[in-house]
Amino acid sequence: MSLRDDIAKAINGDVADDEATLKAMSRDTSVFERKPTLVVYPKDAGDVGNLVHAVHALKETGEDVSVTARSAGTDMSGGPLTTSIVAVFTKYMNKVLEVGDGYAVTEPGAFYRDFEKETLKKNLILPSYPASREIAAMGGILSNNSGGERTLEYGKTEKYVEELEVVLSDGTQTTFKALGPDELDAKQKQPGLEGDIYRRMKNLIIDNREAIMSARPKVSKNSAGYSLWDVFDMENGTFNLAKLICGSQGTLALVTKMKLRLVTPQPHRSMLVVFLSDLNTLPEIVKRVLKFNPESFESYDDHTFKLAVQFLPQMLSQMGLARAIRLGFSFLPEVGLVLKGGVPKLVLMAEFSEDTHEQALKVAQEARAVLADLHLPTRINVDERASEKYWIVRRESFALLRKNLKGLYASPFIDDFVVPPETYPQFLPELYSLLGNYKLVYTIAGHIGNGNFHIIPLMDLTKDESHDIILELAPKVYELVIKYGGTTTGEHNDGIIRTPYLSQLFGDKMVALFAETKNIFDPLNIFNPGKKVGGTFADIKESMTHHV
Ligand SMILES: Cc1cc2nc3c(=O)[nH]c(=O)nc-3n(C[C@H](O)[C@H](O)[C@H](O)COP(=O)(O)OP(=O)(O)OC[C@H]3O[C@@H](n4cnc5c(N)ncnc54)[C@H](O)[C@@H]3O)c2cc1C
Repeated sequence: MSLRDDIAKAINGDVADDEATLKAMSRDTSVFERKPTLVVYPKDAGDVGNLVHAVHALKETGEDVSVTARSAGTDMSGGPLTTSIVAVFTKYMNKVLEVGDGYAVTEPGAFYRDFEKETLKKNLILPSYPASREIAAMGGILSNNSGGERTLEYGKTEKYVEELEVVLSDGTQTTFKALGPDELDAKQKQPGLEGDIYRRMKNLIIDNREAIMSARPKVSKNSAGYSLWDVFDMENGTFNLAKLICGSQGTLALVTKMKLRLVTPQPHRSMLVVFLSDLNTLPEIVKRVLKFNPESFESYDDHTFKLAVQFLPQMLSQMGLARAIRLGFSFLPEVGLVLKGGVPKLVLMAEFSEDTHEQALKVAQEARAVLADLHLPTRINVDERASEKYWIVRRESFALLRKNLKGLYASPFIDDFVVPPETYPQFLPELYSLLGNYKLVYTIAGHIGNGNFHIIPLMDLTKDESHDIILELAPKVYELVIKYGGTTTGEHNDGIIRTPYLSQLFGDKMVALFAETKNIFDPLNIFNPGKKVGGTFADIKESMTHHV
């Protein structure tokens, strides 16, 4: 029997192996391409269990087969790409099941945009939503441990995970959540894979506690490696494997349902905008503004600024006529700056959210006042409507590049590193000097308050020279990031592009613990092989796409 027949027999959902489907599933938004052999659309958790069970049986007979999860496929790291079976959750397992008091229960294939429509009915949101909020789904948000513009105040998805229903690598289904000592004891006594996971993971974490805790990146956000440091909560005495699954890119278990904590967003916002031409003052600005607890503190650079003006008609054409006209006029000062050549090097946007309009405005004004001695051009946007154009430029910068420069692909390979903000004066000139050695068109946008930068060069990936640049420049940038105490990824995760840097970032001991973790959960290497554990520089080279 063929693989297709074996799997079709095991599940109620659909299977496909026609060329068009395989091609569509061979890309995400990364620089990679891997063509799967089979695409599976499970109907429910039982189906996922049966799929994994069937693959487990095949693997035991020596077949080279694996399962990689895919929600919306917007990953920038190659996370959902595979040459074996891909399980797609957005077709059937896409329902928001419940929104309760302060929480929601959802299937992984629900798009964030649909999830938020439901949560807003109760005036609640998941505040760690990513910038890709219109195109990403909950399975990916959870599995990448996504963050976004409100992460500065609210943290990342890991903070909001309450319970996960998962399928383990032998096909059994279980729930991961915080367990007290008695519950943990009971779990450890269970026979089979689940009991084994609890016994061995507890020992691994206790035996290596010091190494694990000191390996935790010393920056405010991280998606690299496995979050072993979050499993044991010593204060509450709880043991929570859901924390480990969050951000594990489908390499330890497949998530079939999740319960997430939600928050009530504060209703009023004002924004302080700072136009910066001398990067040397950046750390001082960040330090002073952070004292006022902005909900978000974002930035975009002069390249983004110019692109936004250049592609203004395309950007506005996606909006309704009235909004497009209003926004079109609001951009006239920016058009003027581009024409006269006075574009600032960086635009910083610090947004403050409060219960009343007056409070929000007051905090923005106070934050402006503490910058007075720096003599910088600033402005205050009194409310969200006034801030709209800044958010559009910030959020649309990557999409603008992707859509409008034909033949050139927005290529994420140094797209998400984080450095401590106090290192900006030394780090940024070194970074710019590295980038300056290559003829690249790129934008820098980022979460400046967290030290998290998104650099997405535009490249012609059909050319070997572009691949050579990726292979040469990425190690140099990551070496620099690590030298300054940073992490290689704050939110986009490891995938194919960053897994090989984990030993440089964490050291051999931690990488051995990551490998042991993988082995405890998935001894036959069924789930998303080569991501988080075992990925090599040769994988990066071999999987880079030659297509636009
Ligand atoms: C324009 C743009 C902006 C972006 N901005 C951000 C940002 O601000 N912050 C951010 O964090 N990311 C960002 N991203 C990256 C990406 O969109 C997010 O990480 C997003 O959360 C991924 O969701 P997805 O549904 O597309 O996941 P996918 O691409 O489908 O999958 C992502 C990973 O999760 C795994 N996975 C998916 N479903 C499951 C499941 N059910 N069980 C187990 N594993 C699973 C996959 O195997 C893969 O490794 C951006 C991407 C783009 C294109």
